[in-house]
Amino acid sequence: DLTNTSAPVAVAIDCAGAPGLSQASGLEDDLFASDGQITKRPVRALTLSALAPRPKETLWDIGGGSGSVSVEWCLAASGAEAVTIELRSDRCNNIRANAENFGLSHRIKVVEGAAPDALAHHPAPDAVFIGGGASKEMLDALWHMLPQGTRIVANAVTLETETLLTNWHATKGGRLMRFEIAEATPLGRMRGWDRVRPIVQWSGTR
Ligand code: SAH
Repeated sequence: DLTNTSAPVAVAIDCAGAPGLSQASGLEDDLFASDGQITKRPVRALTLSALAPRPKETLWDIGGGSGSVSVEWCLAASGAEAVTIELRSDRCNNIRANAENFGLSHRIKVVEGAAPDALAHHPAPDAVFIGGGASKEMLDALWHMLPQGTRIVANAVTLETETLLTNWHATKGGRLMRFEIAEATPLGRMRGWDRVRPIVQWSGTR
């Protein structure tokens, strides 16, 4: 039943062969055009859970990559909108293609540029996701710019960003989590755990 989603039929078959798009966040990675820089499905599901989208809310998706987080934000709540900020023009093209493919072009605004500078002059968000470009300067700039009550979620895959988020958690509170995920893959004629790099996630409220 596709009546509740604006996604085209072309993408509306999931890996289990069931018709229609799942209503849960954490859609298959290959439903999104990307160059491989995409928040992977299980981590994306955990990220959307932390972002906690509600109807009509606005997300700033910093370091949009493929735009997968913005797409799922918009799918999760009626009338929700996203401003997706991405440095690279080739990735901005992917974001636009994905927005279009999911029927969300009118709800996802793509901003090509570097945050935090590129964040000025956009409507204040209800939630911010930092999927790329996290730095002390970025966090400080956001902290000063955002209205109180704004939810912020940042994911780190590098030690440097992990350190940044660990220190940020010490001064600002919130929640710091580490996700360790592995998937069974072929290992010779048997199987073994293929580990995803651990992700450290800070979430908190301004
Ligand atoms: N969440 C994305 C993946 C993010 S990868 C997805 O699911 O597709 C991180 C991205 O951040 C990269 O595309 C990189 O180009 C971008 N980036 C890094 N620093 C940035 C900055 N200061 N402003 C905007 N984008 C930035």
